[in-house]
Amino acid sequence: MAKYVYFFGGGKAEGRGDMKEILGGKGAGLAEMANLGMPVPAGFTISTELCTVYYQHKGKFPPGLRRDVDRAMARVEKIMGMQFDDPVNPLLVSCRSGARRSMPGMMETVLNIGLTSKTIPALIAKAGNARFVYDAYRRLIQMYSDVVMEKAAGIEPPEGKGVRQQLEREMAKLKEARGVKLDTDLTVDDLNGLIEVYKAKVQEVLGKPFPDDSDEQLWGGIAAVFRSWNGKRAISYRRIEGIPDDWGTAVNVQAMVFGNMGDTSATGVAFTRNPATGDGHFYGEWLPNAQGEDVVAGTRTPNPLNEATRPAGTEHLPSLEQAMAKTYKELVAHRNKLERHYRDMQDIEFTIQEGRLWMLQTRVGKRNGPAAVRMAVEMHKEKLITAQDAVLRVTPAQLDELLHPILDPAAEKQAKVIAKGLPAGPGGACGQAVFTASDAVAWAKQGKRVILCREETNPEDVEGMRAAEAILTARGGMTSHAALVARGWGKCCIVGAGALKVEPEHKQFQVGGVVVKEGDWLSLNGTKGVVYPGQLPMVVGTEENPNFAAFMKLCDKVRRLGVRANADTPDDARKARQFGAEGIGLFRTEHMFYGKGAEEPLFKLRKMIHSKTLDERRKALDELYPHIKADIKATLEVMDGLPVTIRLLDPPLHEFVPRGEDERTRLAESLGISLDELAARADALHETNPMMGHRGVRLGVTYPEISECWLRGIFEAAAELIQEGKKALPEIMIPVTCDVGELIHQAALVKKVHAETAAKYGMRRIPHLYGTMIEIPRAALRAAEMAQAAEFFSFGTNDLTQMTYGFSRDDIGAFVPDYVEKKLLPADPFQILDPIGVGELIGLGIQRGRATRPNLKVGICGEHGGEPASVKFCHKVGMNYVSCSPFRVPIARLAAAQAVAEDAEKSAKKKGKKLEGDK
Ligand code: PEP
Ligand code: MG
Repeated sequence: MAKYVYFFGGGKAEGRGDMKEILGGKGAGLAEMANLGMPVPAGFTISTELCTVYYQHKGKFPPGLRRDVDRAMARVEKIMGMQFDDPVNPLLVSCRSGARRSMPGMMETVLNIGLTSKTIPALIAKAGNARFVYDAYRRLIQMYSDVVMEKAAGIEPPEGKGVRQQLEREMAKLKEARGVKLDTDLTVDDLNGLIEVYKAKVQEVLGKPFPDDSDEQLWGGIAAVFRSWNGKRAISYRRIEGIPDDWGTAVNVQAMVFGNMGDTSATGVAFTRNPATGDGHFYGEWLPNAQGEDVVAGTRTPNPLNEATRPAGTEHLPSLEQAMAKTYKELVAHRNKLERHYRDMQDIEFTIQEGRLWMLQTRVGKRNGPAAVRMAVEMHKEKLITAQDAVLRVTPAQLDELLHPILDPAAEKQAKVIAKGLPAGPGGACGQAVFTASDAVAWAKQGKRVILCREETNPEDVEGMRAAEAILTARGGMTSHAALVARGWGKCCIVGAGALKVEPEHKQFQVGGVVVKEGDWLSLNGTKGVVYPGQLPMVVGTEENPNFAAFMKLCDKVRRLGVRANADTPDDARKARQFGAEGIGLFRTEHMFYGKGAEEPLFKLRKMIHSKTLDERRKALDELYPHIKADIKATLEVMDGLPVTIRLLDPPLHEFVPRGEDERTRLAESLGISLDELAARADALHETNPMMGHRGVRLGVTYPEISECWLRGIFEAAAELIQEGKKALPEIMIPVTCDVGELIHQAALVKKVHAETAAKYGMRRIPHLYGTMIEIPRAALRAAEMAQAAEFFSFGTNDLTQMTYGFSRDDIGAFVPDYVEKKLLPADPFQILDPIGVGELIGLGIQRGRATRPNLKVGICGEHGGEPASVKFCHKVGMNYVSCSPFRVPIARLAAAQAVAEDAEKSAKKKGKKLEGDK
């Protein structure tokens, strides 16, 4: 039989940290820690491959597995000095899931396996503590009946009727009857009685007794963990995160160590750095006399790990540093070792059993955008990682989080605080309160922004959490499963806002005399953990973040591809510079005819397009000219010292034909023609297929005076700026070309207008470049000739995609989503550049163009220029720059840097393989 079982413990392991695909993240981390000589309770991992086999064989284990598990168990027993199912010295084990990529809280765990009427007395005698053993037993019944007997058996009870909830209610009833608040206040007799109640309840709800057999418990646990891979929560999470269904989970069976053996025992979860802010201090939470689930389930608000990271409002809670100073120091040593070893932030679980520290987990910790950026910058400063490593530590989506709004700090100062909680996921959010996950999904579907308000964080709510703008809970800690998930998605999230009284049955919460009902607006500051009523204004927060600037510097150091912005107004140009654009890659001049302040130039443009004779048109262009020049000059001025690619008029003229009666009358009057005549001229502009009609360079061929007007605007604006002491660098771009003849035709106009303007301003030359968009397949194919006339190419991949696929870019909504759903297309090609079809044309175009003109400057200005995968493609085909909307500029800078770092990583791997081969 293939190898499915991997042992670890006693300072060694059969697996390694880089075997995540087979061992899952948890199993790989345990193996690595064991190999590093850390105190890991012995155990074994049953591989993810077995999960696949298990499903292929319809839930049956292959023969031979039992033998391998028995052998591994014997090794565990030897190292731990105890035996599973032994009436004298019994070993208990846990059974935990662990996929390749962490899916916090989405799969199942069973603890304390091996507690039966046969082993319990021995354990009580050994521990000298009946209370602890009964508590462990009631936990086993609770978890096992829920995970193995209910969920894995496919039973789907109605809301609130699950066996776990029913058992929890029994516990709550007992606590109320005894007048105690904490589980730990229940006596031995209370727990013993509760166990009997639990057993009866399990029989009543599930129609089966709780198994009193260690072996049955073990195999039930193993199978249930494998089955939880296909549980509802896990499937939803995989969909959202894009994790393939066939990866499978591993199962880790491990000797139990106990954090609930009294006051010298404890359990905790820690991060080597703060996952919500990136702060470099060791950060975490712990609970004395508790099991791990108590910390992560979010049902108790845990204690802070140390003094340096103690949150406000926890002064009454002891930190681990205070309470168990020696063990804390030991833990810090492990923290340092792990971070140095992995060179990344680790998410650690530990247990202290009667003063002895055990490490239960290490994995790369999830973090939100601001934390990812800060960690990358600081780890690079600490020389833990290189600049190339640093740029790979932040995903484009995480960087995007920093470009999103936060609550306006000025408005916050004025606003009333209604509640405070733990800042589990930073950033700001505004939305309407909803109280169930399904409402969050339904409201979001209607386009509403919602804040999901819950008593406690609960991984079952994963879809609602995804749909919500933010999450607010009354209970739970920073390391609760749902806080982890929210942070992974970069969601604003506040947990443990203890003053909230959440009443989901009434769809409201109360806090300090205020009632917030479903649909009421809330504003959350997830960075501080503060809740405000109403809707506060938001602002973009990058200026407040010095790490953002430092991180972008690292990206710039690594990348080779230039990044420009598509900008059509001085405001956009300013924004582009702020975000680090190195020029404008597309200035769509027609935008001066749209929107606010466009009435005057638009009217004059309309006059021009409704002109019939050359004379009429010239007159109209003369009127229009000052607007064109002023508009171009304003943007060139903002971009002082940086190149600006200015495109001549591109859209079909009929787009500007007025529809309103008043507009038509005014226009007819101004032209001195009748309304009928105007209508006739407008009709003549009508085209059946305007996208492929009289537009772009074709206008300049039929009406050279239009091109001349634009060219004069460009040259005069540049000449004036230069004479004012500025550096204007216009790049003239001809749109929608398909043949070099068009470029030669327009180049003559450029030459003429340049000569006239230079003479007018007494200059020898006005600096400029002349080039074209490549957005028609023929232009890409004939690039060798196009480059004879063009000094630069800019790939207009919106039109190039449209014309390569033959998909109308304005009508894809009707069929492209269907194509993607049916996997006929890997993605919408208008969003992610098609690397093999459109991409082949681009590659060809560059190669042929540069064969003619080796220093041909090449860029992209379609929407793809700000999409990370497409940016990486542009790097690969050797473009000089990408151009995208100003807000995407940082994303493009990051993606360009990642392209270099990924190349380096790949070639290092190849080299490594070669070296291995040489040995
Ligand atoms: C393009 O076609 O890719 C382009 C940038 O031009 P527009 O979107 O203005 O057609
Ligand atoms: Mg175009």
